[in-house]
Amino acid sequence: GRVPSDATVLFDGSHLGGWQGRDGEAKWKAESYFMEVVPGTGDIQTRRGLGDGQYHLEWRAPHIVKGESQGRGNSGVFLMTLYEIQVLDCRDNPTYADGTTAAIYGQFPPLVNACRKPGEWQSYDILWTGPRFDGERLLTPAFVTVIHNGIAVQHHREIQGPTRHRQATSYQAHAAELPLKLQDHGDLVRYRNIWHRAFGGETP
Ligand code: MG
Repeated sequence: GRVPSDATVLFDGSHLGGWQGRDGEAKWKAESYFMEVVPGTGDIQTRRGLGDGQYHLEWRAPHIVKGESQGRGNSGVFLMTLYEIQVLDCRDNPTYADGTTAAIYGQFPPLVNACRKPGEWQSYDILWTGPRFDGERLLTPAFVTVIHNGIAVQHHREIQGPTRHRQATSYQAHAAELPLKLQDHGDLVRYRNIWHRAFGGETP
């Protein structure tokens, strides 16, 4: 796909220079036009902070299907390093509802299963408005709309707080811009064509 003229390209397929891993350098594989999780090397995140806007990512679950439920093609897109939109191979792969593909992990299932077959590229367009704080106090929570392969699967959902697994969550004050993080969950998930467009003007 073409990149809009007002977008910041976060990964164009050539190198991981704009990304870092837990010990500094991002240790995932970047080759030809995509990056791929190298299991055990940890999550990676952009060097720059990002806030409100449209996040576009394309991802691909491994074409060799193995594992089941959360063990199949698992990764994740963490907005502002804290709030996960699940990446999973959910084609013929039952799992718990708020852990399936395009779920706001641990909070809201998607409206519909829009998954393509494993091995096929899929897209996420994530419209994100981050939380606002006044000192330590939450003023407004984050809101997210997720479009998976052109299908709206989350519509203006109010995020309850940072992603937790089977636990209540609550906000902790943080900066207005934080890195975009991708999850190493041990599966050979690939990403390509990642960009962000900041929303101009006022947001609530
Ligand atoms: Mg995940």
